[in-house]
Amino acid sequence: MTALRTPVIAGNWKMHHDPASTRLFFERFLALHAPRTDLTVIVFPPTISLEAARLVVGERADVQLGVQNVHWESAGAFTGEISADMAMAAGARYSLVGHSERRQLFGETDADVARKTRAVLAAGLTPVVCVGETLEERRAGRANDVVDRQLSQVLEAVLDASGLVIAYEPVWAIGTGETASPDDAQAMHASIRAQLASASNAAIPILYGGSVKPQNTATLLAQRDIDGVLVGGASVDPQSFAAICATDA
Ligand code: PEP
Repeated sequence: MTALRTPVIAGNWKMHHDPASTRLFFERFLALHAPRTDLTVIVFPPTISLEAARLVVGERADVQLGVQNVHWESAGAFTGEISADMAMAAGARYSLVGHSERRQLFGETDADVARKTRAVLAAGLTPVVCVGETLEERRAGRANDVVDRQLSQVLEAVLDASGLVIAYEPVWAIGTGETASPDDAQAMHASIRAQLASASNAAIPILYGGSVKPQNTATLLAQRDIDGVLVGGASVDPQSFAAICATDA
């Protein structure tokens, strides 16, 4: 990453940590991770644990909270869903949008992701928009086209792209122990950066996600266009997440 951008370390807990274990996580994590102004830390707990997280994090402005998913409508008959406005009112400041598990397991389309991104921005939250190709798509030489298509729909849907955070997460690297090589990740990030530049002059952070661990964080963050990491499995444990946050960018 370049010296001009502040690294972002984000943890996506997926369906882990109920309210009680969320409290325990933060008691341990906050004891290990002293406040830093040169790093943004964001944790995405399950929505049911957001309030527990908010109460323990308290005044630690260096640790932000987000939700993993929202509906694009602000209210209505959508059983089981939450809106971006509700997430904001409950203390979230970020929302993941279009995580590959949402796309693959819950059938979210590029159009849904675009609508959700718009709703998240309208509520005053920062969307962390996830893009990435499957192994099949990479093997077929279509990785760049897929990511370009996923991102284009989002860029067309928003009036101003400057409030976005993008996370490049190759689907084959999520939860598999496989990480994209630093060179491959850098190449995709540079291509995303070029696409973003045609939509906005702002320095939009681009995070890498996919089996990030304490051992590979430094090499990834050393890449010119990798501005941070989105961590799944290794963010659930306070010690490994604190170790990732302690990595020199
Ligand atoms: C994720 O869920 O966004 C992710 C990158 O998971 P993992 O780090 O476990 O691969």
